[in-house]
Amino acid sequence: MKAIQYRTIGQGPELVEIETPEPGPGQIRIKVTAAGLCHSDWFVMGLPAEQYIYGLPLTLGHEGVGIADKLGDGVEGIELGASYAIYGPWGCGQCHACARGAENYCTRAAELGIQPPGLGSPGAMAEYVIIDDARHLVPIGDMDPVETVSLTDAGLTPYHAIMSSKDKLVAGTTAVVIGTGGLGHVGIQVLRAVTSATVIALDIADEKLALARDVGAHHALMSDDSAVDEIRRLTNGRGAEAVFDFTGVQPTLDIARQVVAVDGDIQIVGIGGGLLPTGFFSTPFGASVRAPYWGTRSELMEVLSLAQTGSVGVHVERYSMEQAVDAYTRLHDGKVQGRAVVVP
Ligand code: NAD
Ligand code: ZN
Ligand code: ZN
Repeated sequence: MKAIQYRTIGQGPELVEIETPEPGPGQIRIKVTAAGLCHSDWFVMGLPAEQYIYGLPLTLGHEGVGIADKLGDGVEGIELGASYAIYGPWGCGQCHACARGAENYCTRAAELGIQPPGLGSPGAMAEYVIIDDARHLVPIGDMDPVETVSLTDAGLTPYHAIMSSKDKLVAGTTAVVIGTGGLGHVGIQVLRAVTSATVIALDIADEKLALARDVGAHHALMSDDSAVDEIRRLTNGRGAEAVFDFTGVQPTLDIARQVVAVDGDIQIVGIGGGLLPTGFFSTPFGASVRAPYWGTRSELMEVLSLAQTGSVGVHVERYSMEQAVDAYTRLHDGKVQGRAVVVP
């Protein structure tokens, strides 16, 4: 089968031909109908050898949708031929976090060597992918695979972050979204759907700011030295009750720190490597800083429901397997509008 793999440290992704995998006991083989590209793939492919923990070759793709194609011994509750979204942050299924569906915060995954598809286990950017357990599949009925696939990360991750700040985002409050790419442009829509906050979006490219406005941001501003004053002005000096940083580089964390309101939240979602100074006077009274990771199984179901009712939609650029490597280059260069999705 065809697959997009990261094979050599520092070399970027490659289109390769590999053996079609067989499902073992308890596993499900999915025939992939769509796989999304995430900027985290470039984080992984940018790591030096001494920090790289994902194994080589690595089949990429941690956003996947497909059809149940073959069941391993003992699999129950999966219907052959039906369409499923892959819940990616695999956990042990047994610990307290997993018991409440928060496998993204599994306390035993590292110790047991459990890694998400595309981030250690073979991923969905291939014609077939093996899923380790039926609980990691959510049925999507007749939802369009290409339009749905990125909800598994670019939808789920902002949704999870926003839900934990939701109680603060009552009418009259403000949410700031920094970085309106794959995650950010869905985050804006989730904010509009589940809160009554005014949404201010920041990015460094005019076309991304245009997309932010299209998907519902009330204001879209250039992420530069003027952003802090402008956000203070728009909020009558108060600042934002929640700041979602989908970039996480030093300049954006500096903005986040300066615009968060008293008792507000800073949610660092982007893994750009910036740091926030911590200390009593580094943020306003009562402010909290959080680094959320992906989302829970029930939240995936909720974000899929938001898409089904039309409140949230992913702006998709569609590519074939043969075009996937070029799509990765576009993502690297900041050229993708919304999310790039590969259709095997
Ligand atoms: P993306 O490339 O699609 O979007 C990033 C956006 O940030 C782009 O629109 C870009 O123009 C913008 N940007 C870059 N520099 C900026 C700046 N200084 N100010 C404002 N905007 C700026 O990336 P993505 O796939 O949406 O991922 C976003 C980040 O989230 C990445 O760091 C990714 O690794 C991370 N991520 C984290 C999780 C998690 O669980 N915490 C999950 C998925 C992705
Ligand atoms: Zn991702
Ligand atoms: Zn667990």
